[in-house]
Amino acid sequence: MNSLSPASAINIMRGISSFGGDAKRPQEGDDPKPPPKHRREEIDLPIGSRPPISFNVLLKDLDVHGYYILLSLFTTESLDYINKNSSSIATTKLNMPGSDKQICILDSAHSEANILAERDMDRAQWTEAAQNYVKFMGIVGTPEDVARWTSHFGFLVTYEKAEKNFPALLRTDVMLRQAYNMQGFSFKRDFYQEQLNNELVLLRIDKKLKLCSAEWKPAIETRPPATPLSLRRGSRGGGDRGGRGGGSARGGARLIGKGGPFQEGSGGDASSTVCLICTRRGHYYSACTQNSFEDGSPLFCRISGNNISTIRSNETLCCLWNVKCDKVSCNHDNLRRHLCSFCGGGHHAFSWTCRKQPAY
Ligand SMILES: [Zn+2]
Ligand SMILES: [Zn+2]
Ligand SMILES: [Zn+2]
Repeated sequence: MNSLSPASAINIMRGISSFGGDAKRPQEGDDPKPPPKHRREEIDLPIGSRPPISFNVLLKDLDVHGYYILLSLFTTESLDYINKNSSSIATTKLNMPGSDKQICILDSAHSEANILAERDMDRAQWTEAAQNYVKFMGIVGTPEDVARWTSHFGFLVTYEKAEKNFPALLRTDVMLRQAYNMQGFSFKRDFYQEQLNNELVLLRIDKKLKLCSAEWKPAIETRPPATPLSLRRGSRGGGDRGGRGGGSARGGARLIGKGGPFQEGSGGDASSTVCLICTRRGHYYSACTQNSFEDGSPLFCRISGNNISTIRSNETLCCLWNVKCDKVSCNHDNLRRHLCSFCGGGHHAFSWTCRKQPAY
């Protein structure tokens, strides 16, 4: 090229650019030229650090289109899984409103079944997911969004006795994020405390129920051993790799899906529980679908939200009082009544005054 004059070099370039003749000449309406290529931005990673977390476009799409985003997709393990399997991961095709275009949105039910369900997160997973979620907000949202979710998780994650209260904290978190997705609302500490208090009461009731159930347990253990999480989760088999923080809390046996009000550690088995509504064994009152007692007589109560209410007068009854195993201290004033949930009498339901205790 040294011997070429500037003019002849320009001519050669012109020759190259016109190669292919008129057929290649840009026409009006042609697609615009692709943008010039840039080298991707790089950062320095210190020795011993993990590669930075990256949020898959599938997650960003959920946010852009206003869909509820499962927090369980934000554990580092879930984020890795989505990134590695994004081409084969289950999505739902949806029509864009006001357009004939379709979008592919991550299938929530499938994600909960195959990656991780929100209500199955343990405390370590939940804390990690919360941190990653706030980072995600820093990418897709505004500084106000980051502040909003920092307040949300800050209140819940650092709440007193977080280990003991964890099931109530998680339920409050999920409930409030789901509600927020329908209608945004500002963070108010008092409002959060009120919502959490409801869940804390339910947690106390659940613990009493388990305590009562444990007392009725026959001498010989008849329940099948709980299946480890890693065996039930088909495709992933995670939990054995260890390494990352919080490993000690993982992999514990836990029930999935129905049951509740809570599924806590290995003690969350509904099979030994007796229903406060229908007296049948094997489900929590919150999962009761019966219409009558086993002898065919009509029920006295029904489930109403998280509470038990009388069918005739729609009065809320105190579950804690009804499952009484020891002294009950209630602070609900007149909001819940101390009446038997089987008959409305002045005795505890689980005193088995008006109904026969179900056999094992
Ligand atoms: Zn029932
Ligand atoms: Zn009470
Ligand atoms: Zn009764």
